[in-house]
Amino acid sequence: MSQWVTEPLEDNILRLAPYHRFAVEGRSYVVNTDRFRYARLDDKTAAFLAAWEDNPGVRPPDDVRVTLVKTGLLPWDRGGILPDGAARLDRDRRAADKWLAGDTGRTSTLCLMVAQECNMACVYCYGNAGSYGGGGLMTEETARRGVDWLVSHSGGNRKLVLSFFGGEPLLNLPVIRRTVEYARQAGERSGKTFTFSLNTNASLVDEAAIDFLRANRFEIIVSFDGTAPAQDKHRPFKDGSPSYAVVAPRIKMLLSAFPGACGRATLYGDTDPGEVLAALKEMGFQNCHLVPASGCLLTCETPEKDLFRRERDRAADLRRGAAAFVAAVKRRDPAEAARQLKDRDLFWVTTIGRWPFMVRRLFFCGAGRSYLAADVDGGLYPCHRFVGLREYLLGSVYGAEDPPRGLFHASPVTESEECRRCWLRYVCGGGCAYDNIASTGNPFRPGPAFCRQFGQTVETLIDAAGQLTGEDWEFLYQSNVVARPPCPLDF
Ligand code: SF4
Ligand code: SF4
Repeated sequence: MSQWVTEPLEDNILRLAPYHRFAVEGRSYVVNTDRFRYARLDDKTAAFLAAWEDNPGVRPPDDVRVTLVKTGLLPWDRGGILPDGAARLDRDRRAADKWLAGDTGRTSTLCLMVAQECNMACVYCYGNAGSYGGGGLMTEETARRGVDWLVSHSGGNRKLVLSFFGGEPLLNLPVIRRTVEYARQAGERSGKTFTFSLNTNASLVDEAAIDFLRANRFEIIVSFDGTAPAQDKHRPFKDGSPSYAVVAPRIKMLLSAFPGACGRATLYGDTDPGEVLAALKEMGFQNCHLVPASGCLLTCETPEKDLFRRERDRAADLRRGAAAFVAAVKRRDPAEAARQLKDRDLFWVTTIGRWPFMVRRLFFCGAGRSYLAADVDGGLYPCHRFVGLREYLLGSVYGAEDPPRGLFHASPVTESEECRRCWLRYVCGGGCAYDNIASTGNPFRPGPAFCRQFGQTVETLIDAAGQLTGEDWEFLYQSNVVARPPCPLDF
């Protein structure tokens, strides 16, 4: 149950900071929404909160008061004042403005859509078979203008990233090669450094491409659906032929040069997320990322709302991973604990509520702010997924002005009615704007499936962390599975 006590209340009514209360298999927790600190609740405190939710006139016994103070639901002194909803909103708006006015709000990553063409025809492609409603290959001249644009619009950011994307970017490898060379020179001239990333379907990878990517220390993300049936069904070549047998040996070759490459699988239809994860591991990926397919705004008048139907399997898989992690810690098995943390993306378990500083997240991602995408003609969009949606065109790499970023300069945490009231707002930041539009037609209105999944994930992670004792944490620190939180006085 979530409570949002945002208005000043009359005398005689106990005012608590906003919180979320939940239970997993009989273990009760409360999360202070504002500070994002959680506490495992004893029965007495849980019963008090349940009573207070019915009648805010009740008073906590002293031992319950101590628990409420520890989680920040009550101020530590009786005369203390908790900020009310308006004060919190004002604080968050000022924080967002400050963030946007500084270098954090300037562009530091530019995605170059070097090929709006693809040799595959993935059934869930949000880019309309990689063409994004247009098509073609980016010229060297446009790519260079992109580099120059990034250098001159990056403010004080010294580390810049060029991300090569498509379609299939390796269809335009000659331009990628020359752009990397040009970016290095531009970096030397401007005192900035460039790093590079590539998202590829791996079908065109060969030794020459690998040599080039390795020499330039590319970060590699491979779009690959893990199992042969899923890959062949959802990621066929354009002529309809299956792709698994073609990409599998090339992915292995890539992984021998880039063992840290990320395997990114799209969950679609009835794909089993557990099978996909196991197949990615089997292929040799150490870093795996599983993402449900999103709707395609370019082609679908009414975006599909049920692209991935096994949401429950995914939540169950996470719960299994969290339970395996806790069990490994309890039996003092550092290798298995580390494996579960990594394989299941459970790293939040180690930070939630334990690090001394919680930075309130006011945006879900950098789209339209630190991150922009340029289409083959140099048109600038908030991110790669928006390419081709003319209503979101922000400007051009051929223009000198910093383009107006419109709604991307407003934080959903302060401007979205749903997010403003949500207990997850400071760890979520408002969801993916593209997915929000695909689900609800409104970038500030998230789809209920995303919010439900996000909430389930965070509750599972909190429950895993909440089952660990002080000795368990000490074991994790001493066996280097988890970094010890820094001393708050050292900063
Ligand atoms: S997108 Fe959903 S989960 Fe995220 S803050 Fe908004 S309402 Fe909460
Ligand atoms: S808006 Fe969505 S797709 Fe675009 S960068 Fe953000 S999270 Fe990714």
